[in-house]
Amino acid sequence: MPITPEQQAQIDEQRASPRPTLRAVSPGMEAHLYQAHPVLDHGLVRVIDYMGDDAAITQAARVSYGRGTKSVSNDEGLIRYLMRHWHSTPFEMCEVKFHVKLPVFVARQWIRHRTANVNEYSARYSILDREFYIPAPEQLAAQSTVNNQGRGQVLEGDEAARVLDILREDAMRSYDHYEAMLSQDGQQGLARELARMNLPANIYTQWYWKVDLHNLFHFLRLRADAHAQYEIRTYAETMCGITRDWVPFAYAAFEDYRLGGMQLSAKGVEALKRRLSGETVTQENSGMSKGEWREFEAAWG
Ligand SMILES: Cc1cc2nc3c(=O)[nH]c(=O)nc-3n(C[C@H](O)[C@H](O)[C@H](O)COP(=O)(O)OP(=O)(O)OC[C@H]3O[C@@H](n4cnc5c(N)ncnc54)[C@H](O)[C@@H]3O)c2cc1C
Repeated sequence: MPITPEQQAQIDEQRASPRPTLRAVSPGMEAHLYQAHPVLDHGLVRVIDYMGDDAAITQAARVSYGRGTKSVSNDEGLIRYLMRHWHSTPFEMCEVKFHVKLPVFVARQWIRHRTANVNEYSARYSILDREFYIPAPEQLAAQSTVNNQGRGQVLEGDEAARVLDILREDAMRSYDHYEAMLSQDGQQGLARELARMNLPANIYTQWYWKVDLHNLFHFLRLRADAHAQYEIRTYAETMCGITRDWVPFAYAAFEDYRLGGMQLSAKGVEALKRRLSGETVTQENSGMSKGEWREFEAAWG
């Protein structure tokens, strides 16, 4: 369970006391505010706070007084224009603060995104919970034979059972040792900041992660992508759903131009033009490397 009944009661209490505000409010985001979205076996994503909505993007782009909205369709068109032409600062006017509970090895990938503000649960100050990520059977896969950075066939039978046993046993044993070292029963008890060091990377940590919409889109483009590791991708996909509800026009433009769109190099544009005019273009006469050509063919057939 990602949250306890007591934590759920705190969330319910927060949601039960709305306050009137003059600030921009996104009805879609209000529905998510404070709610815990479960991710993986013990993880979660929830929105703690946010600033702005779709209108805030166009308001900033026009440097308007008041809401500055001309019409809803006008706003949508402007947002699409801004996204299409890589204008970033109007999207930076919206911000969101997430509470994320995630395995440490996922946190290591996540923290590489430097354009956010982070505050992590202190394992120097507090004792970590006995919560470890154990992959679901369908995620327990062998090393990929085609992609060094990926997984292939799902493990089966005895091998799958053995791997799960090892993961569970190692997690429990290291947590038992963690508790034994911390214990002040008949001994001084090792400092929390030291006792944590033998805990495995599948233990859960938590943080508050605040980011503007432009950099959130950048994060989601990289981490909701099929090339991203499944574990971080599930978080990104949950956040995609939340962002869609928060800023529907901006998210639709992001989905269209970034998630679903494709970038072409000058050589790619040239190859496509030559193909459209009926020429047979091959890797050899395209000027592209083998890797580029593979990706070009995968995209364009
Ligand atoms: C599928 C995948 C595989 C990966 N594999 C590896 C790997 O094997 N090893 C590894 O080390 N990393 C790996 N990474 C991490 C990757 O290289 C980036 O560090 C990570 O995705 C963060 O991207 P970013 O720097 O664009 O994002 P952010 O840090 O959020 O930055 C956003 C943008 O802000 C700008 N910016 C931010 N900080 C600076 C700065 N100090 N100077 C200049 N510009 C800045 C850049 O334009 C940057 O693109 C991988 C990422 C993905 C998605």
